[in-house]
Amino acid sequence: MDTAKLLDWYRKNRRDLPWRGTKDVYRVLVSEMMLQQTTGETGLGYYGRFLSRFPDVQALAAVSEEDVLEMWKGLGYYSRARNLHRLARQVAAAGAFPDTLEGWRKLPGVGPYIAGAVTSIALGLPHAAVDGNVLRVFARVDGIEDDIMLPQTKKRVEARVQALMPADAAGDFTQALMELGALVCRPVSPDCGACPVADGCAAYQRGLVDRLPVKKPREKQQVISLWVAVAQTPDAVLLEHRREETLLARMWGLPNVEKLPARPAEELFAEKYGIHLPAGEPAGHAVHVFTHRRWEMDVVRYTLDEKIPVGGTLEWVSWEQFDKKPVPTAFLKALWAAGKEDSA
Ligand code: SF4
Repeated sequence: MDTAKLLDWYRKNRRDLPWRGTKDVYRVLVSEMMLQQTTGETGLGYYGRFLSRFPDVQALAAVSEEDVLEMWKGLGYYSRARNLHRLARQVAAAGAFPDTLEGWRKLPGVGPYIAGAVTSIALGLPHAAVDGNVLRVFARVDGIEDDIMLPQTKKRVEARVQALMPADAAGDFTQALMELGALVCRPVSPDCGACPVADGCAAYQRGLVDRLPVKKPREKQQVISLWVAVAQTPDAVLLEHRREETLLARMWGLPNVEKLPARPAEELFAEKYGIHLPAGEPAGHAVHVFTHRRWEMDVVRYTLDEKIPVGGTLEWVSWEQFDKKPVPTAFLKALWAAGKEDSA
């Protein structure tokens, strides 16, 4: 790969995104933890709101985890938000961000990609950062026909990026590869005619562009069928503060139970939560897809004149408070299905 051509292309073509061109460690870190697997436009709004609420690492360390999850809601990958918050607290206690790759790798949620991206972009250190975009680019440039999800393929690409890394332009090189993957060497219909590295691209030269990268199909998704309760009084809704070990841990959700044949929803809610709901009315269906799971949610509405007694993980929350709670999209979809249009 001709790195000089790639850098030249990047400097002329990079998008004017708020996280491109900054060397501020906190901003680079937030962009990398927040924006992986998020499209540019969705990310822009989240990134801007997050930084205006938590402008530096001390501000982030000072708030509760729930405040952070609330700003993150809708983005998914909530463990990243929790790790970013834990990281902020460690850094604020230490008084400064680490200045080496090894120091970064010790922080919560920081794997080889985040450590490489932050140290190369913000600190100018020559460390490779290989994400899905970079894997795709190198699978094509080097004509790699092995599955790109295999650890050894990733290691091979990391070594390749490391060997190419220009010591005097580490940050630009990392970002140039990301921009190339996002703008030109796209997953579908790459724009090889506009590609600065087409001359040295094995896939392009050998007509393999449509066949690379090789990626084995994902393991099958587990489908989970749930009853989801929208239990409400005129001014409050019943929510569950989810436990440590569950999916979407420590977020707030609607009470839900896995469906069982011939068992009414109310009976199952009583068993799981110890609550006694009157017969509800079907209020729609919603689907949410996680990385390895698919929730098929049948929503049941319970309209109550007053709050029934609840305990454990359940709590009545006013609609006003509801807007401030970190409620993940899966449950917002159930609410939308039940006609709560204004509850996003
Ligand atoms: S020539 Fe095409 S396939 Fe090769 S790196 Fe460029 S855009 Fe990707």
